[in-house]
Amino acid sequence: MFKTEAVVVGAGAIGLAIARALSLRGREVLVLERADSVGQETSSRNSEVIHAGLYYPPGSLKARLCVEGRRALYQYCAERGVPHRRCGKLVVATSLDEEAALQYLYERAAANGVEDIALIGTGRLKEMEPELQATGALLSGTTGIIDGHALMLSLQGDAENAGATVQCRAPLLGGSLGSPSIWLRVGGVEAAEIETKLLINAGGLKAWDVSRGLDGLDFETIPPRYLAKGSYFAKSGRAPFERLIYPVPVAGGLGVHLTFDLGGQARFGPDVEWVKTIDYEVDPARAGAVYDAVRHYWPGLPDGVLAPAYAGIRPRVTGPGEPPGDFVIQGPKQTGHSGYVALYGVDSPGLTASLAIGDYVADLAS
Ligand SMILES: Cc1cc2nc3c(=O)[nH]c(=O)nc-3n(C[C@H](O)[C@H](O)[C@H](O)COP(=O)(O)OP(=O)(O)OC[C@H]3O[C@@H](n4cnc5c(N)ncnc54)[C@H](O)[C@@H]3O)c2cc1C
Repeated sequence: MFKTEAVVVGAGAIGLAIARALSLRGREVLVLERADSVGQETSSRNSEVIHAGLYYPPGSLKARLCVEGRRALYQYCAERGVPHRRCGKLVVATSLDEEAALQYLYERAAANGVEDIALIGTGRLKEMEPELQATGALLSGTTGIIDGHALMLSLQGDAENAGATVQCRAPLLGGSLGSPSIWLRVGGVEAAEIETKLLINAGGLKAWDVSRGLDGLDFETIPPRYLAKGSYFAKSGRAPFERLIYPVPVAGGLGVHLTFDLGGQARFGPDVEWVKTIDYEVDPARAGAVYDAVRHYWPGLPDGVLAPAYAGIRPRVTGPGEPPGDFVIQGPKQTGHSGYVALYGVDSPGLTASLAIGDYVADLAS
């Protein structure tokens, strides 16, 4: 029987940020990751955007942790040399209705304490991005892009330097929530039994399964799970924009937007497709709807330039027709066990919020 003070399940951006925060506070931490290396699931299947915090209901965890996390992330990237760029973003309106939605978004962003936002008209828009067709836009100066994998390697390095161990090919198979100890069964080449005082479930899309594998947990505490797949299409050649371009948000997502990576490769997506299983294939037939969505704000998008790129799946606690739910972060009070913390529904802006989530969970766990 191997003994440790704290076990974190999952080495995505969230599990690594939590492991970092706990180990910097002097806790002995073991991270269990079932894949061959860190960050192979949702944390490497997203838009890699550092979100400003425009969209989320004021007072929600998403609003608070996005704004706090974004501020902390820019500082962290500068200190650690994590590649990133504060390129800014435009949310564009193409009709009167959408202009009303922009005004609403502006007020919501202001209520969330987002800095450097402005509503701009067509004159300024034409100067900034001549190829855009829009009747107005919300300019967000603190939005940026980041190399998500470099971020995760840096978080892992900090955690390990502070004494944590990150064990890959080590799936948590199940366990039992006892008092005061928790017993865990781990598979893989070095199958083991572990005794710990604190268990943090940062299993992403599989967080629900991790909880269901724990004897002694009241399953009524587990929220429903919905999967919202998002497919991306890459554009050959560069796109003629300096900033990220988003439409006003649509049901279930932020709308098919244009982002680029740090090398300038443009991609469009993610769309929203409700699915039952985890399958990352991109259906080329979905490109048609992407062309249509993008041409609302960029009529000059040529035919035949989009190719299927990759897909990610948003873990959600709310389903089709409902607004995207908040992050669900259950501390001991909510899970009903003094040593169990569980995270569900950590979709966007989880990457941006990762450092703030790490601190939030470390506080809950103390
Ligand atoms: C399409 C899309 C676009 C997005 N765009 C953005 C964006 O632009 N900006 C932003 O801030 N956020 C964005 N997000 C959100 C962001 O990607 C996530 O919030 C974040 O990556 C979640 O990280 P995680 O560590 O919780 O999950 P994951 O990265 O999925 O990590 C969970 C880990 O747990 C492991 N695991 C699961 N079960 C077990 C087990 N039993 N034993 C051991 N290990 C296990 C998995 O293998 C995995 O590595 C986007 C998400 C999606 C889907």
